[in-house]
Amino acid sequence: MIPFFPPDLFAEDRDALLEAVREVGTDPEQRFILGRRTAAFEDALRERLGAADVVACSSGTSALTLVLTAMGIGPGDEVVVPAFGCAPLAAAVAVLGAVPVFADIDPWTMVADPAAVEAAVTDRTAALMPAHMFSVMADMPRIADTARRHGLRLVEDSAVAQGGVLGGRPAGLWGEAGVFSFVQVKTFGTAGEGGAVVTRDPDLGQAVRMLRNHGQDGKQRFVHHRVGYNSRFDEVLAAFQLHRLPGLDARLRRRAEIADYYTARFAPLRERGVVAPPPGREGRCFYVYTLLAERRDDLKRHLERRGVGAHVYYPAPLPLQPAFARYAAPGDRWPNAESAARRNISIPVYPHLTDAQVEQVADAVCAFADPRREPQW
Ligand SMILES: *Cc1c(COP(=O)(O)O)cnc(C)c1O
Repeated sequence: MIPFFPPDLFAEDRDALLEAVREVGTDPEQRFILGRRTAAFEDALRERLGAADVVACSSGTSALTLVLTAMGIGPGDEVVVPAFGCAPLAAAVAVLGAVPVFADIDPWTMVADPAAVEAAVTDRTAALMPAHMFSVMADMPRIADTARRHGLRLVEDSAVAQGGVLGGRPAGLWGEAGVFSFVQVKTFGTAGEGGAVVTRDPDLGQAVRMLRNHGQDGKQRFVHHRVGYNSRFDEVLAAFQLHRLPGLDARLRRRAEIADYYTARFAPLRERGVVAPPPGREGRCFYVYTLLAERRDDLKRHLERRGVGAHVYYPAPLPLQPAFARYAAPGDRWPNAESAARRNISIPVYPHLTDAQVEQVADAVCAFADPRREPQW
């Protein structure tokens, strides 16, 4: 069986993980959060990215909240988000008392349709918050242009896109601020929770840094300049991520290679109701590899019978979720988001898949789309 969520994700680094626990646990400093390892981790990410600041925090969700708070988003504001994606996109806006406004997506790439984003702008709009989805980056040039023309803040949910590059600019640096998530399953996942805010704006970075630790400035304790949060980062995880960072590029390359292979194999399936993501590496990331299939549930059962785990993300558009329905006007529709929710299915793309396993996954998908030609590939 090739699982969708592999239990041996950190097998190669297990000794390093235990060593990180030992090292931090026996360090005479006895400092478990926001210590020198967190600072070194932030520096390493900042240099790698060419950002003005990187602020490690407790999750990707929290990173979004910190950015929106730093920007002063609150009651009376609208933030345009994609209608298809993960709950934090809408929840991070809603918990601040602002209103998420849902823009429909592109039917193939599943990221926000820039025309729909533009059409969702009103005189209450304060910010645009596109998200990179699965393995495709949002159309940041057009959305950034909309933000510029309307004088709006731009937050980039790059939680899944670490390492992606669009038009020569890395994911995370297209918005005024971007975020990363280090939750286990993400491309730079860790053995627990974590996230980061990345930004080209040092003042925004400073504000986020303060908000991460109850509005303190890091110099004077118990002086609270702003109403903040507890969103601090763990030293054990900082040590572990520092250990894993040098291997990240090779793991991202392996993901991209697997995706290239899948996309080449799946190109002929398009007219038979199974659509692969766009080819190439420009504006791409390979967090998960997601197909659109007309008979999605049949495909999932077929793959499971052939020993291939598959996963369906987001079975409903955000505005059709009970939590967010109140932000949608009666009669509003998001046909492309609804179609993606009905058709999306993701297959394994993690870097430690062997070539033989990758071939097995591809064979299984191809056999579904054309059972007669099953062994011929
Ligand atoms: C995972 C994810 C988040 C949230 O990150 P957490 O670390 O799980 O809080 C936010 N946005 C997107 C697009 C994600 O995929």
